Parts: sequence; C-alpha cells; structure tokens
Amino acid sequence: AGRHRVAVVGGGSAGISVAARLRRAGVTGITLIEPSDTHWYQPLWTLVGGGQAPLRTTHRPEGAVIPDGVRWIRRRALAVDPEARTVTLSGGAELTYEHLVMAPGLQLDWDGVPGLAEAVGHDRVSSNYAPEYAPRTWDLIKGMRSGTAVFTHPATPLKCGGAPQKIAYLAADHWRRRKVLDAIRVILVLPDPAMFKVPAWSQVLEKVAARYGIEVRLRSEMTAVDGGAREITIADHTKGTTETIGYDLLHAVPPQSAPDWIKAGPLADRESPQGFVAADRHTLQHPTYGDVLALGDVANLPTSKTGAAVRKQAPVVAGNLLDVMSGRSPSHRYDGYTSCPLVTARDRMLLAEFDYDLDPTPSFPLLDPFKERRTMWLFKRYGLPPLYWHGMLTGRL
Ligand code: FAD
Repeated sequence: AGRHRVAVVGGGSAGISVAARLRRAGVTGITLIEPSDTHWYQPLWTLVGGGQAPLRTTHRPEGAVIPDGVRWIRRRALAVDPEARTVTLSGGAELTYEHLVMAPGLQLDWDGVPGLAEAVGHDRVSSNYAPEYAPRTWDLIKGMRSGTAVFTHPATPLKCGGAPQKIAYLAADHWRRRKVLDAIRVILVLPDPAMFKVPAWSQVLEKVAARYGIEVRLRSEMTAVDGGAREITIADHTKGTTETIGYDLLHAVPPQSAPDWIKAGPLADRESPQGFVAADRHTLQHPTYGDVLALGDVANLPTSKTGAAVRKQAPVVAGNLLDVMSGRSPSHRYDGYTSCPLVTARDRMLLAEFDYDLDPTPSFPLLDPFKERRTMWLFKRYGLPPLYWHGMLTGRL
C-alpha cells in the first residue's frame, strides 16, 4: 500500500479530530485506516437508552466526516511494527509510515463476565454501550412496572465512567413520573469505594441516588449472569461475599480493554493490565517510539476516557506531531482534562469537569458545577451534538 507520511489508525472521535487539525495546518500525505462505514456519536447513546434521543441522530456516514485531502483505506489494522514503521492491514497489505497516530478506541469484552455475551440483547439484558442494544434499553425501561432493575459498572477502566449510573437515574426518574418507582427495587453496582472519583461530585450523586431510593452497592461487581434464570451474581469486595439476585431488567456495562491486537503488540504499556497504548501523559508521545502518538480511549492515560478528553487531546497530538515532523521536541501539553456530563434526571444534568489532579476545571466558571441544571441537560441534548459534528470533527473546536 506504499509509503505514507502520516498514518492515522481509527476514524472515530480522536482520529478524525486529529486528521482535521493536521489538514488545517496544511499537512499533506495523511492516510486514515478505518474499516467501518459509520461514524458514531456515542455520548447520545445514554439518551437513546433513556428514550430521549433517536438512534438515527447518533451516526453519520464515515465518508462524510473524513476531511478533504485525507486518503481513506477501508481496512482494519491488524498489527504495528514500530521498528520497521509498518502497519499490517486486513487483507494482508502492509503500509509504511513516517508518523503514526494511534486512535482505534477500546474493545468491549462481553466475554469478561460469564453468561453476559449470551444474555445481552435477550433475557431482559441490555446495554447502552452498543448501538444495536441501546434502543432496547428504553423498551425494557418503558415496559417495567414492578420488580428488580440492576445497573452495573465493570471493574476495568471504561469509556465515560458516568454512563453506567446515568441510565439508572433516567430510568428511575421515568418510573417516578409514572408512579411505579415504589414498586421497583433499583440496584446500582459500582466497583469503587465512592460514587465518583472527585469527592464533591460523589456527594451530590449520593443525594441523587437517595432521592430515587436507589440501593448503591459500592466496591461491588457483577461476576456472572444467568440469562435463562434471570439471575446475576454480585461480589461485594468489602464484605468478601457474593450474592445471587434475580432481576427483571439488567443494564450491563461490559469490562473494557485495548483491542487484542494492541495488547499483544509492541506499543502496549507494560504497566497497563488492559494493554492500553503507552503515551506520555502530557505530550501523548510514545515513550519508546517518538514518531508514534496516541490519544482517545486506546491511550493509557490516568484520566477518564471521554470524547471531551479527546477534544483537549487532539490539538496536543496535532501540535506535537508538527513539532516532531520538523525535528523539534513536543511543546504541547495535555493536563488530563476530561468531562462527564452526569445526567441525573430526565431534565437535569451535572457537568463534572476535572484534570489529572482531580481539580474542577469548569468551562462555565460562573455556574456552580455541583448543582444539577436544566440548562446543562439542554446543552447535552441539543448543544453538544452540533458542536461535535461541526466543530470538533472539523478541527475548529
Ligand atoms: P471511538 O470514537 O470509539 O473510535 C474508534 C474508531 O476506531 C472506530 O471508528 C473504530 O471503527 C475504529 N477501529 C477499531 N479498530 C480498528 C482497527 N483495528 N483498525 C482501524 N480502525 C479501527 N464521552 C463524552 O465526552 N461524554 C459523554 O457523555 C459520553 N457518553 C458516552 C456514553 C456511552 C454509552 C459510550 C459508549 C461512550 C460515551 N462517551 C462519552 C465516550 C466517547 O464516546 C469516547 O470516549 C470517544 O468516542 C473516544 O474516541 P476514540 O476516537 O478514542 O474512540
């Protein structure tokens, strides 16, 4: 497949944002490796599952988001050899690069919990983490009048750490409005000792959960699903016990890791149990291979994996790539910024924004970030999607 000046692996939020920024800076010879013909705006999947947005508003044809002047190879990357500077593609071809941007996202490990792969999509089990299931979450929520609803969060790093609980609040608020919440036992299973990494937001979320009567199980995880029997096993790591609970609705979030071909490869960070790609936390440059930069969900960075983080990482990667291309050392720095739009009701949201030090970094400094707001919900539903399609993906924002 010839020699390529800049190869970008993955045409999701991260790959497209970086390619667009490089094109704006006048870089030529950019090749995008992306097997899918669909580009997804995943942050809306929570609202799809909550019955507040149609799935069709969450995707566009991949070809429509690839910047002009970028060559698209519709293949899957199978391996990278950073010594030889080659990428092996599905179909067997090999591509040689001068600079490489790694942005293939992460992998959903449905097999990581016994029984989950078999049950998801049937047996009253759904997940907003895949577009084929997200609409089904809403069908299950709508159809429920009584019984037990369980919402789980995996014990691995995941994309959008708030998403496993947001759907619990959307569901509980729906049931409250329908006056059936009292007849439904809602259980939220979380692996950490607190509801959120930043204590101030954690305290707000405790009140939100209490308001709906949600039973929060901290330091707990779902370790098995029996879809046929409609039962799950929950391990409680504080008590050292396991419990089997019958469910009528299960919203499961699968364990997540780097794609298998990356885990096993030379770019993986040896310190990352999930095999995420090594990258300097500030420059996003690979520590061993200076011509490789990584961002987005695949990068092993000590911050929460979100599209909002990608928005701040993309200019750093594009800027540092330009530095490296002209023989300078990387001069742009990422501070760990990430943001989690915590939807807490069908018309309310908390915008949690913070950096590597877990210090709040509000985009709207005049608004108290610990208050649930209707304006923030409107911003997520109607403001952020156009900013994504027209601002972030075109390299303007
Ligand atoms: P992706 O956008 O997932 O893109 C990866 C791309 O790589 C895909 O196009 C894929 O086809 C391609 N690819 C995969 N394998 C290969 C390969 N071998 N070769 C070539 N290409 C490959 N973020 C927020 O900021 N706010 C939110 O409210 C929010 N909510 C979320 C809710 C849910 C339910 C989910 C699932 C995610 C949410 N996110 C949210 C997270 C956000 O969507 C991701 O963090 C973001 O998409 C990461 O961008 P990325 O480019 O790294 O990965």
